[in-house]
Amino acid sequence: MSTRPRTPADFMEVANQGLYIGGEWRPSSDNATIEVRDPATAEPFASVASASGHDVIAAVESASDAAESWANTAPRERGEILRRTFELMADLEDEYAALIVKEMGKTFAESKGEMRYGSEFFRWFSEEAVRNDGSLTIAPAADKRIIAIGQPIGISVLITPWNFPAAMATRKIAPALAAGCPVILKPASDTPLTALALAATLEEAGVPPGVVNVVPSNRSSEVVPRLLEDQRVRKLSFTGSTAVGRQLLIGAATNVVSCSMELGGDAPFLVFEDADIADAVDGAMVAKLRNGGQSCIAANRFLVHAAVAEDFAGQFSEAMRTITLGPGMQAGVGLGPLINAAAQEEMREIVDVAADAGASVRVGGNAPDRPGYYFEPTLLSDVLTDSPILGREIFGPMAPMITFETEEEAIELANDTVHGLASYLYTTDLARGLRVAEAIESGMVGINRGMISDPAAPFGGVKQSGLGREGSHEGMKEFLETKYIAASW
Ligand code: NAD
Repeated sequence: MSTRPRTPADFMEVANQGLYIGGEWRPSSDNATIEVRDPATAEPFASVASASGHDVIAAVESASDAAESWANTAPRERGEILRRTFELMADLEDEYAALIVKEMGKTFAESKGEMRYGSEFFRWFSEEAVRNDGSLTIAPAADKRIIAIGQPIGISVLITPWNFPAAMATRKIAPALAAGCPVILKPASDTPLTALALAATLEEAGVPPGVVNVVPSNRSSEVVPRLLEDQRVRKLSFTGSTAVGRQLLIGAATNVVSCSMELGGDAPFLVFEDADIADAVDGAMVAKLRNGGQSCIAANRFLVHAAVAEDFAGQFSEAMRTITLGPGMQAGVGLGPLINAAAQEEMREIVDVAADAGASVRVGGNAPDRPGYYFEPTLLSDVLTDSPILGREIFGPMAPMITFETEEEAIELANDTVHGLASYLYTTDLARGLRVAEAIESGMVGINRGMISDPAAPFGGVKQSGLGREGSHEGMKEFLETKYIAASW
């Protein structure tokens, strides 16, 4: 379309134009499409082009044609394009948010929150684009100099999940463009529309053809290996499950492609006996129910000191009872549907398995009898440390609660996982807070906070939760390669 998208219908029209490759919209080479469903009704409402292996290689060609010129574009100019993108996204916040509600299901208020977080990456990296700092060191041998500079790593493949259709993409596109790299974005096939709308916004902001390519595909296991086999691709930045990330790391090994991996989490939420319980419950509601619990940093296990467990469980269940389920655009709704039927079925299964293992369902536990993929906010207490529901990423509005007696036991339980993305802890003793934060094996820790995401902070995990960091000053470095120049004069 020639004019900028201004309404939700315009956004839909943009997304229906096809794949975005080399600054043009085109159908898939074999006319394959993806059916997109509204999780609030389970009905399909849009059909978008599904990229083939041929299409993704066309995207590499376009990125390759654009690479040199983009790398040589003045950092200030790249920064100004990113800044314009931020402004356009802020201007179109409601339209984008409505699209996110439609394809992903979260509430309109939460979708606007995602837009504010997601667009901020463009503002943050518009400022970082001009801060590509290197170093000049006097060598120990004194008569030599060690110069280190950061150069764009090259063509970057970005693969994103469905849970934050805007923010997971902007968190990668913005630092890659700031660093001077062209990108090929493959969004999740459940939520391709927001990513395609982003292509239109980036074009309007002045991103040259080929620098950003967007190729939704429901043939990921076929097309992503094609990308990784192409020697022009030098970077893979992936956000998704640990299982798929592991597979992609193996694929990336052939051409030794640099990988940044934002993978699954198993966040513990610790409540100590000295915590302000009302405050901890407020934090728990955000850490558990934001995005319907479908967040990599969602609290996955509540570890509560035995002395305050009953008080916490009582207040937490009361707070959960006040939440209204419904379609994301409906006023007063606090929790939208889950992404698809499989996710809903998984919640049912977890409740059954937990109950069989002796857990009590304090509140919720059911999928309401209505169209769409809804599930009630659920609190499971009396969960034992060897319960079969532990050790898996729940990805829904369900909170298993376990009790502990000592700080050492709490730390041991928190670290008893292969994951290490986020953790949360509530205590009024800051010394304990910092001591426990340092002992917990995770990339991020919230002390007396249920919400930790911030574009200015380094986001990422340890152990099997990932490699590398997004956001902050570190985010752009993932798209830069350090060159050492040995000099004498
Ligand atoms: P997923 O791993 O199934 O899919 C992620 C992306 O990979 C999608 O674009 C998907 O189409 C693609 N994909 C799937 N199979 C593939 C294959 N065989 N080859 C190549 N690509 C493939 O994850 P999801 O269900 O979309 O998202 C949920 C997961 O993402 C959760 O595990 C969550 O913790 C994780 N996540 C992590 C972060 C983080 O920052 N660490 C953020 C959001 C989500």
